[in-house]
Amino acid sequence: MYPKIKYRAYTLNNFRDIPQMAALPEALKFDIEVVGHVLPFKANNFVVDHLIDWEAAPDDPLFVLTFPQRDMLQPAHYAEIAGLLRAGADNAELKAAAQRIRLQLNPHPAGQVSHNIPSLEGEPLDGMQHKYRETVLFFPSQGQTCHAYCSFCFRWPQFVGMAELKFASREVDRLIDYLRANPQVSDVLFTGGDPLIMSTRNLAQYIEPLLAADLPNLRRIRIGTKSLSFWPHRFLGDDDADDLLALFAKVTASGRHLALMAHFNHPRELQPEPVRQAIARIRATGAAIRSQSPLLRHINDDPALWIELWNRQVDLGCIPYYMFLARDTGARDYFSVPLVRAWEIYREAYQRVSGLCRTVRGPSMSANPGKVQVLGVCEIMGEKVLQLRFIQGRNPDWVHRPFFARYDAQATWLNELQPAFGEPRFFYQDELEQFYRENLAADHPEDYE
Ligand SMILES: *Cc1c(COP(=O)(O)O)cnc(C)c1O
Ligand code: SF4
Repeated sequence: MYPKIKYRAYTLNNFRDIPQMAALPEALKFDIEVVGHVLPFKANNFVVDHLIDWEAAPDDPLFVLTFPQRDMLQPAHYAEIAGLLRAGADNAELKAAAQRIRLQLNPHPAGQVSHNIPSLEGEPLDGMQHKYRETVLFFPSQGQTCHAYCSFCFRWPQFVGMAELKFASREVDRLIDYLRANPQVSDVLFTGGDPLIMSTRNLAQYIEPLLAADLPNLRRIRIGTKSLSFWPHRFLGDDDADDLLALFAKVTASGRHLALMAHFNHPRELQPEPVRQAIARIRATGAAIRSQSPLLRHINDDPALWIELWNRQVDLGCIPYYMFLARDTGARDYFSVPLVRAWEIYREAYQRVSGLCRTVRGPSMSANPGKVQVLGVCEIMGEKVLQLRFIQGRNPDWVHRPFFARYDAQATWLNELQPAFGEPRFFYQDELEQFYRENLAADHPEDYE
């Protein structure tokens, strides 16, 4: 019924084979090569043929979303790799230089590696994270790559082999034991990479035992994915697409809510017919599709795009969920938008859509203490301040308590903000430090946001 399309990946080794590349200047291809030696890069034939507007490349936002850009590296870093390439350096030399540069790009933001790994009977559960009370993240080991890579992705270290194994698990039994021991957990979120890179058979090896365990607290299964946009054939003509949809239907028939946490960064991703068909097929299984994206300079830092993004999502039956701020890692200088500007963009867009689009929440930073939403700028007793609140907190009691930072038009992340009204610290900071003292052997003073 749906045509079978053969998946073809494009990486650093073969991107020059992309037919549309022929029309682009050599200098641009050299830039891709330079930056692609440091940051991960992968595109595929759907992205190349259906998403990118090649007439508008290299400024096309979907080109920027997948292809490395010169300015994603600091000039000195760019010059170092470019120099090595021009001098015909060998692989070992290039690798060593790339690795040195990567270590300067804050590869493990928000204490991801050290702070959130749960344990059971004293054993750490690698491949899981448990930061917010209700939701456990599970990283299936075969789901740690994607159909293409987003150039902004905060998980870039795992795609270049810096964090691979720590984050992956095959042990669904341990997950089930953990859920049994932690009845406060209602949601399991499969994440990656993109778990839907897995064959249906592999995915079922995680989902089926979870269903069979019949845990009364497990109400929702979520799957984080970009495959709707990067490879919609996963739900259409791929060999095991029908099985995948049957698996989704089985989850919803069990009385559990299945949510695809979909990434869409630009409204044009919702245009291609296969994407629309995939959305319709998923919805027909009873699964919900919620959508999230960071706000990214060069890609979507324009309220008109967000209006279109949310409207198209609601038209197609997707539920707008989060607008994030670009994380403090990798090429963040290239993508980041100041908090104040982010709030303006959010507000301008939010004001111009119907309530059905206003299920979205943001702009939000996934920072060490929690997900922090920028509520806006106001003036209190003569002081211009930024109002903030936790959407999620390491301590659930922090959630939805308004707090205030000194106005700062340039700040792009929580750790650049100072408490307002002459307060020495934000209300949560003592407790956060206490948490670090109890949970960290190594000292990470830079994390004391
Ligand atoms: C965002 C996030 C979740 C899910 O939070 P919800 O607000 O329930 O969507 C869970 N764990 C971590 C670490 C997260 O960053
Ligand atoms: S699909 Fe998600 S995990 Fe994969 S590169 Fe993009 S943002 Fe990162």
